[in-house]
Amino acid sequence: MLYLEDSYLRECNAMVVSVKDDKYVVLDQTVFYAKGGGQPHDTGCIVRGGDVFNVVFVGKFGGEVSHEVDRAGLLVGDRVHCVLDWDRRYKLMRSHTAAHLFASMLCVGTGALVTGNQLEVDKVRFDFSLEKFDPQVLEEYVSKSNALFRTDTPVKWYELPRDEALKIPGVVKMAEAFPPEIPRLRIVEIVGLDRQADGGTHVKNLKEVGQIELLKTENKGKNNRRIYFTLK
Ligand SMILES: [Zn+2]
Repeated sequence: MLYLEDSYLRECNAMVVSVKDDKYVVLDQTVFYAKGGGQPHDTGCIVRGGDVFNVVFVGKFGGEVSHEVDRAGLLVGDRVHCVLDWDRRYKLMRSHTAAHLFASMLCVGTGALVTGNQLEVDKVRFDFSLEKFDPQVLEEYVSKSNALFRTDTPVKWYELPRDEALKIPGVVKMAEAFPPEIPRLRIVEIVGLDRQADGGTHVKNLKEVGQIELLKTENKGKNNRRIYFTLK
């Protein structure tokens, strides 16, 4: 999972380690993000010589990244080249960092609790629990976030031992995502603003996010709120 260290890698060489049902391919290394943690999978292609196999889905099964390709033909031992659909991935990186910052601002500012978060290519869905619901206040947090997306603020990611990581206030926004057997947690830090345990891909500076805008707010009753925002 080369993207855990370098989210800007768009291509890599790899070797086919296993092929199941002619279309589920495991490689010795990959730049393709496997769906999870609220971030969709990457798309792109796996190339062997002049043969192109389109990657239509990427999932993680038993700790392995499985690439679903659109046709049969890849064989164990093949040397291949992986190429991401970078436009899609980069948008998801910008959205993911935007979602962390917005969540942090809203949680610190209002005491809201995050209950769900799903990135899509064209929008971000964000569910939270908050007693008082005021769409005007949400607009204010979007404006506050946009002000920060104009600042030159670095974003970093690194691993910490589990015990040390869990001492950071608010580091786990959704506890069920990190089962106790994981000894080290990957932390994504928006320097000076937020630290979260997270396995996703992010941009390395808030400036790269650009600006966001609120698309829709929904009051789902009994403290359950949902909003959608998008990159401008
Ligand atoms: Zn995240």
